[in-house]
Amino acid sequence: MLKGWPETDELKKMLLEQVSSFARAEIATKAKELDETARFPTEIVKKLGEMGLMGMMVPEQWGGAGMDAVSYAMAMEEVSAACASTGVIMSVNNSLVCAPLLAFGTDAQKAKYLVALAGGEKLGCFALSEPGYGSDPAGLKCHAAKVEGGYKINGTKNWITNGREADYCILFATLDASLRHKGICAFVVDTKLKGYQVAKLEHKLGICASSTAQLFFDDVFVPDECLLGKEGQGLKVALNTLDGGRIGIASQALGIARCALDASKQFALEREQFGAPIAKLQAIQFFIADMATRLQGARLLTWCAARNKDLGLGYTKEAAMAKLAAAEAAMWIATKAIQVHGGYGYTKDYVVERNFRDAKITEIYEGTSEIQRLVIASQELAG
Ligand SMILES: Cc1cc2nc3c(=O)[nH]c(=O)nc-3n(C[C@H](O)[C@H](O)[C@H](O)COP(=O)(O)OP(=O)(O)OC[C@H]3O[C@@H](n4cnc5c(N)ncnc54)[C@H](O)[C@@H]3O)c2cc1C
Repeated sequence: MLKGWPETDELKKMLLEQVSSFARAEIATKAKELDETARFPTEIVKKLGEMGLMGMMVPEQWGGAGMDAVSYAMAMEEVSAACASTGVIMSVNNSLVCAPLLAFGTDAQKAKYLVALAGGEKLGCFALSEPGYGSDPAGLKCHAAKVEGGYKINGTKNWITNGREADYCILFATLDASLRHKGICAFVVDTKLKGYQVAKLEHKLGICASSTAQLFFDDVFVPDECLLGKEGQGLKVALNTLDGGRIGIASQALGIARCALDASKQFALEREQFGAPIAKLQAIQFFIADMATRLQGARLLTWCAARNKDLGLGYTKEAAMAKLAAAEAAMWIATKAIQVHGGYGYTKDYVVERNFRDAKITEIYEGTSEIQRLVIASQELAG
């Protein structure tokens, strides 16, 4: 995987070897049980924190590992190849929680929240979506009323990854819904505050070991110092954050796809029909060739987006392309992986069944594939 990529310096190779061997020994071995029991992998998340993987791109000064986005993408692929649920838990904390605190937080907010989140002692969630507002977050209704010394928050958030386990929540609420994006504010909220409620947990098709919660905010008093960025800047915080998040989800999709491809190659070499391994059949060889090609194409798009981010170049379009390509590659590859496995692939005895269920979400969250196309088209047509 590393061969031929100019940025794979010694440090990255060492990191990758460490993450890869941990993922194979400690995550992949538990992934089936985690999926079947929908158990949050507390002990794995703790270890990821100790390894510096929960705040990879945060400078050491603020508790992180001080790595770049290409390294983050590579580590996310390794972890997600072992367990996509663990991948999304890691991605949310890195991309959707640490990143906005680093980009928009005051030094006091970084000292109070970011250090613990990036170091893995605390876990975060990102609460943008609502029951009526997913692709169109500018219309969100969760309300922040200005009161003395802070804000009173009331409203409902849907589909919040890590919502049950999180210590801190990056929350988006509006001062006045009629102002659309101009009224939205971002806050960092302590989930122990009175009025923060986990109202419902979703039973999902895939990524079953990660929690997806509906949250109620019932008169939650959030002090002034928890405003992240300025009043009315919330949607900018959200969209800027999601650009980086899409590199994480693209990498998660790469991991799922790689796992499905590896399983298919192994199966094709072992399974015999008509007196020979099915890998000898050209039909199966073509599946494997197309799977590998789509995976590598998506990986290069993902690393290009990450590299743009590292170089301080624009990466909104590149991240959308990466997420679109990687998510669709993962879904396609997981589908073909089941085909290569025949009837065995349709059972829970083979990992490709889980890959197929896990792949689907990458086409939906952090912007559906349709929304990625809108982002790409608007940038292309803008000239
Ligand atoms: C497991 C899971 C975890 C999630 N985690 C989080 C989280 O941690 N934090 C968070 O804030 N959110 C989270 N989400 C929410 C997720 O980001 C949204 O589900 C997603 O953005 C889509 O919104 P929606 O479900 O409301 O669908 P809708 O926006 O209602 O879309 C429905 C369909 O219409 C299409 N569509 C909508 N608008 C357009 C358009 N303009 N052009 C073309 N097609 C369009 C969509 O592509 C989709 O096919 C999560 C969701 C899931 C399922």
